[in-house]
Amino acid sequence: MTLFVSEVFSAIQGEAALVGERQIFVRLMGCNIRCHYCDQPEALEKTAGTCRMEQTAGRRDWVGIASPMDTEVVLEAVRRLADQVPHHSVSLTGGEPLFQRRVVPDLVTGLARLGTRVMLETNGTLPGALAEVAEGLSFVSMDLKLPSVDGESVSEATQEEFLRTCLDLGLTTWVKLVVGPAIDRMEFARAVTMVAEVAGCFPGPVPELFLQPLTPFALASEAPGPDLMLELQAEALRLHPRTRVIPQTHKAIGQL
Ligand code: SF4
Repeated sequence: MTLFVSEVFSAIQGEAALVGERQIFVRLMGCNIRCHYCDQPEALEKTAGTCRMEQTAGRRDWVGIASPMDTEVVLEAVRRLADQVPHHSVSLTGGEPLFQRRVVPDLVTGLARLGTRVMLETNGTLPGALAEVAEGLSFVSMDLKLPSVDGESVSEATQEEFLRTCLDLGLTTWVKLVVGPAIDRMEFARAVTMVAEVAGCFPGPVPELFLQPLTPFALASEAPGPDLMLELQAEALRLHPRTRVIPQTHKAIGQL
């Protein structure tokens, strides 16, 4: 099994429920959509090239390895970093990790065998691929994509199906919604309502909703102001009381 991998490194998680936790990031290549604000343009295409692998946890002392690569090479890189510093978990990120759906289950199984918890960081658009990796996952961080923010036209029904599948599989899940200055308030209300309604259909922990103010990057040059974030959180709290606002803290501290 070979995987297209962009980088493997140790860092402080800067977003959502695990903010501040130390994680090993495995960034897989390929994504099925193109968000205006995407800060990982080099991971969007599944192309052969060089993957950078950190040798010492947190030092950014990269060594280039040919990608695609065998799953075992990725597991060895994770093992090396995990041996140096205690990590909370591995973040499987991208790109969109489920885009390599044929080989990702093998990676998740291997990571679980190492004894590490795995967090899937996903755009929440490929529900059909989720069940194949679910067994080895500890957490799912699912994005909610709004056309007025990302410039894509992700189907609301698909995102709902993804969230339902997560909860149906019993996965600890939270939802992250990036907020841009031109956010459509109807789209926003529908998205929050969907989360609240789906959450109400399942027993167990209610998925938290994280509103993440957009960090300007690429085609998105403006961040939302504090007044807008206050208004949106107030609106969301009336529908879904488990709503927090967290910006990208790794960027605030100048971390990769
Ligand atoms: S889903 Fe993520 S990786 Fe894909 S384009 Fe959007 S921000 Fe970039």
